[in-house]
Amino acid sequence: MPLPPSPRLSGPPLVASPVAGEGEGGGAGAVLRAVVRYGPLGRTALAGRTGLSPAAVSRHTAALAGLGLLRELPPPAGPPRAGRPQLLVDIDTTRHVALGVHIGVPWVTFALVDLRGRVVAERRHVRQGDAPEVLAGIRRRLPGFLAAHARGRSPLGLGVVTGGWVDAESGTVVEHAPLGWRDVPVRRALSGAAGGGVRLPVHLEGHARALARAELLFGAGRGHSEIVHLFVGNVVDAAITAGGTMLRGPRSGAGDVAHLPVPGGVARCSCGRHGCFQAAVSERVLARQAHADGLIAAPDFTLLLDRAETGDATALRLLRERLRAVAHGVALLLDVINPSVLVLTEAAVIRLPELLADVHREVAVRSHLARDAAQVVVPTSFGRDVLGVAAGAAVLDAVYRGPMALRTVRRGPR
Ligand SMILES: [Zn+2]
Repeated sequence: MPLPPSPRLSGPPLVASPVAGEGEGGGAGAVLRAVVRYGPLGRTALAGRTGLSPAAVSRHTAALAGLGLLRELPPPAGPPRAGRPQLLVDIDTTRHVALGVHIGVPWVTFALVDLRGRVVAERRHVRQGDAPEVLAGIRRRLPGFLAAHARGRSPLGLGVVTGGWVDAESGTVVEHAPLGWRDVPVRRALSGAAGGGVRLPVHLEGHARALARAELLFGAGRGHSEIVHLFVGNVVDAAITAGGTMLRGPRSGAGDVAHLPVPGGVARCSCGRHGCFQAAVSERVLARQAHADGLIAAPDFTLLLDRAETGDATALRLLRERLRAVAHGVALLLDVINPSVLVLTEAAVIRLPELLADVHREVAVRSHLARDAAQVVVPTSFGRDVLGVAAGAAVLDAVYRGPMALRTVRRGPR
């Protein structure tokens, strides 16, 4: 099969280093993160936000502009004022994108995400077959997706995210029970998958952690250093940051809340027990139940959401029961970790935001810290784009943590 043309049409040949560590990036990283969180900003404000000298801010903004990550905004229109005007700098979203793949149970989602964390193109395919088939399907389709949608923007890397236990360091999906994946070397398998003869770095990450990063940069986590992100779908995963650092532990095993016991849970879990959190709230389990009850025409969770959106009382009751179980997990996380924000990504709350009040009520009853649940527990900032944002977030995280590493990792061949 002939390779599609290279997607790189403009901008320097940069890629995001997959090796930048937590808190790396020095002054340039601090400037870039301040601009995305609080910008557009002038140099004086940037110095205030970062604690850097005005001279250092000027040096870093020039370097970041040289990489195509920042741009100076044109001066405001109108008659010239006295003194030298201070130009604002903002994130340059025109030169680069993050290419991402989210591997879910029903769907594989491809996305292009700009440097402000906005999905600019998305396509999804039905997920079919075992791990080798899924990964081969991604390799087959991804180059065409990139070539069709990059529109002159250069990809900084390939992010691949999924649920379950994901070891970012070794690039392995250690365990994803609903997919039946165990020790799948995804990063190796998708090396070169973007096509076009370029070898983008592959950033594999758990989707709960990728989204926690995105919330810190672009969403509800801005300005916070202690946040918890809880992803509830067919898998249940938590990501925990403390002092701005992601908790991982050996082989990135932290945040596995799938098998916490929830009261009243009767569904059998993949681990063999009954009443685990993940089994109690799984979208597939709920869709099967609704289908068996004759509520929806096929065991498809989207149909259940559609039904609830029409105001169907039975569909709403099923979703509300599920959210009560979710709230139990939320209350436990709040009490153990005491984050300043807990972000919940859950499909019913995305489609029917008023259902979040059910979670708040139940958390208020169950949490011993007795904090204002409505203040602390917030929905995902990314709405229906959440899987696309997750896909790109692993790349964007590397960019914002270590932007100057882009200088040293050049894409080949020349
Ligand atoms: Zn279990």
